[in-house]
Amino acid sequence: MAVEVVAESATTGPLDDARAQLAFAIEHLGYGEGIHTLLATPRRELTVSVPLRRDDGGTEVFIGHRVQHNFSRGPAKGGLRYSAFVDLDEVRALAMWMTWKCALVDVPYGGAKGGITIDPTRYSDAELERVTRRYTSEIMPLIGPTQDIPAPDVGTDERTMAWIMDTYSVNVGHTVPGVVTGKPLALGGSLGRASATSRGVSHVALLALEHRGRAASRSTAAVQGFGKVGRDTARFLAEAGVRVRAVSDVTGAVFREDGLDIRALMRHVDTTGHVAGFSGGEAIDGEELLELDVDVLVPAALEGVLTEANADRVRAGIVVEGANGPTTKAADAVLRERDVLVVPDILANAGGVVVSYFEWVQANQAYWWTEAEVDDKLRRRMTSSWRAVLEYADRAHLSLREAATCMGVERVWEAHRLRGLYP
Ligand code: GLU
Repeated sequence: MAVEVVAESATTGPLDDARAQLAFAIEHLGYGEGIHTLLATPRRELTVSVPLRRDDGGTEVFIGHRVQHNFSRGPAKGGLRYSAFVDLDEVRALAMWMTWKCALVDVPYGGAKGGITIDPTRYSDAELERVTRRYTSEIMPLIGPTQDIPAPDVGTDERTMAWIMDTYSVNVGHTVPGVVTGKPLALGGSLGRASATSRGVSHVALLALEHRGRAASRSTAAVQGFGKVGRDTARFLAEAGVRVRAVSDVTGAVFREDGLDIRALMRHVDTTGHVAGFSGGEAIDGEELLELDVDVLVPAALEGVLTEANADRVRAGIVVEGANGPTTKAADAVLRERDVLVVPDILANAGGVVVSYFEWVQANQAYWWTEAEVDDKLRRRMTSSWRAVLEYADRAHLSLREAATCMGVERVWEAHRLRGLYP
């Protein structure tokens, strides 16, 4: 049988950015080098090979990772990503951001992330199930409802979570719903989880507009990405009265000056599988979307899309980071210089992990909340987190990202300090 080893890509960008953000916070907070090193170093990392028997009988081997960055405040928590671009440094960066994110929105978790270097669009459902189950059994020693709780991320969904839960449960001999969040409702998922990240993104986008003195009904937006985060963000913004002028996915972007009919676009995507070809708007270039004349730009796809090369052409006054790490360090500096308000990922997209926490709480209590209860609790937590970050930033003359990172780092260090260093 042919064995194809799928190599790691060599991208190190997001980790450089994450480390620079931490270094800034350490300096601002006046913490020493020892604390810096402790918080920069992941607590555990596991790299595994994941052999797959293809449907045609061949074999391929993928590389998978699980990084637990920190668990001073509770079990490690974070998504699992399937993408051809996954590498260990990217997973390390995403795990570190999860730590600050969970602390910032005050959910009792540390941070983790997992990833497999695989393009899921090139494999059948049965193959993806086998990959998921093998990966789960390889990382079994690390995960568990009180240890580390995976969730969906780019390229994974509730089905992936069901396979992880089942594989874990079969191996321990009883059903353990709390080992993952973002599960199907029938397996103990939470109402409102699937759209939680988008709800959170749209809440903070509306709060940011208000902060800048703009009425939603007189505002415009562009959303990059029409997947788990972008799609419902566009819908919620449109429902709030914002004219969503453009959206994109990997196949292309569509634009309409007076605002797209998002419901019609959703139907088009449900039928064709992609944004390209939508007749309710004109086709534009995906790069052009980032530079449109809109009030709010929501990058909700991958990291590193706003760079030194295009940041000076961004015309939006507000950037709300639906994706993790969409703005590079250099772009961040350019946007700040130009007075663009950047609502950082660890605040803007925290709705997902907030409702993951609600799902875990409901599963632990075996008592289920209504969707309205979930949404209301989410809105309140996003609003209070937004206010806290804004106040911190004002008080300390920091950008929202700097303030959010400092708040997260402070809380993690506080937990570590109170627990003490063992032995
Ligand atoms: N993958 C999501 C994130 O980046 C959700 C993580 C979770 O719910 O654990 O925040």
